[in-house]
Amino acid sequence: MDNFTLIVCTILISFFLMVTTYGLYLTNRTEKYLVDWTISGGCFLLSNILRAFGEDYSIPFFIIGTLANTCYMAGHVAIFTGVVRLTKNRNIRRLIGWAALIVVILHQFPLIQQSIENRMLLLFPMNVVLNIISLLYLWRNRNSSTSYSYLPLMFALSFYIFEISFRGILIFVDPAQFPMQGNQIMQTLGTLFLMIFLFMITISFVLIVNWIKEMELRKALRIDKLTGWLNRNDFDKLVSMKFDSCKQEKSVFGFVYFDIDHFKKINDKYGHSVGDLAIKHVCDLASSHTRNVDDRFRMGGEEFVICVSNTDIKTINQIAERIREELEVLSLVIDDKEISITISVGISISGEHDNSWESVLERADSALYTSKNSGRNRISQLLPEYV
Ligand code: GH3
Ligand code: MG
Ligand code: MG
Repeated sequence: MDNFTLIVCTILISFFLMVTTYGLYLTNRTEKYLVDWTISGGCFLLSNILRAFGEDYSIPFFIIGTLANTCYMAGHVAIFTGVVRLTKNRNIRRLIGWAALIVVILHQFPLIQQSIENRMLLLFPMNVVLNIISLLYLWRNRNSSTSYSYLPLMFALSFYIFEISFRGILIFVDPAQFPMQGNQIMQTLGTLFLMIFLFMITISFVLIVNWIKEMELRKALRIDKLTGWLNRNDFDKLVSMKFDSCKQEKSVFGFVYFDIDHFKKINDKYGHSVGDLAIKHVCDLASSHTRNVDDRFRMGGEEFVICVSNTDIKTINQIAERIREELEVLSLVIDDKEISITISVGISISGEHDNSWESVLERADSALYTSKNSGRNRISQLLPEYV
């Protein structure tokens, strides 16, 4: 395939990169990095259109070269700014303009205008450094929920770093044997690899957005937004897993079931948004008294369950007492308002005859009911041997 045909294909892929990322942005407007990547697609599109003109028309090559190279560099910088926005949520889009300006200025030097090889030896190292930094950003800022989604983009960047390093070394080591100008193979390979790179990053960008959205959706299904605690959806699954493993290990499993006292009054007196803050306050405080392995659930409204495994009744009592006592002592302060919050708690642990967690939860629920009926702001327990 000749270079011109490949440039036309690259134009098409740049166009798809631009349209795809912008289309994704229109449906996910919180994902601002997509705008950077749309700009990147636009820059590559312009750069390749200029290169196509450079092949067939008698516009001075250094003008075409300057503009095409500027857009080419700007395209890579926009990939980088998108990566920074994705991983650090920092907007450094201005860098695209600055980089373009620097490339234009550098192209005014006779040494750079002198030959395409000199221009490549200027652009390739800049490009390698930029793409390595993008790669490092992705690597260092990966976390358990995003790491796999970054892999295709990291692969695409590595591919391109390797490709331009290799061609750059050939031009540098033996410019006579590997000239850019008039060397069909070197030019064609360059265009082909750019086309493959653009194709790979288009797919990578789509995968990243899809992955992030999927994770958000899964999180929204499992996690209560206000408190950060698990919601009821996974309750049965997680609790029954915990119950089974405790039964196998012959260790004790238990529930701390609590409900905010007279919460309706807080809502009525201070408003719903303060009520929300009160719920958050209770959960934050309760979280600080539980271990990470203890699953915490918001069962609904202002009703919560902490599922504790490998424990004993004394420890469960201690956890519940610390939460209840601290809440009683530490009022929630909002502006000049001091809101005292108390909870009623029911606790229970599993016994030899419990064949399922449901019976343990029922006892904790009954104990909570007892706390409510005997004056609130207290802890009641209903242990297996008393049933
Ligand atoms: P008790 O001591 O018997 O538990 O009385 P209570 O007022 O706490 O209980 P009740 O069930 O009568 O009222 C609970 C209220 O919690 C009713 C509901 O409007 C409110 N609520 C439920 N979910 C939320 C929420 O997410 N935010 C806020 N602000 N209020 C909520
Ligand atoms: Mg209540
Ligand atoms: Mg309630």
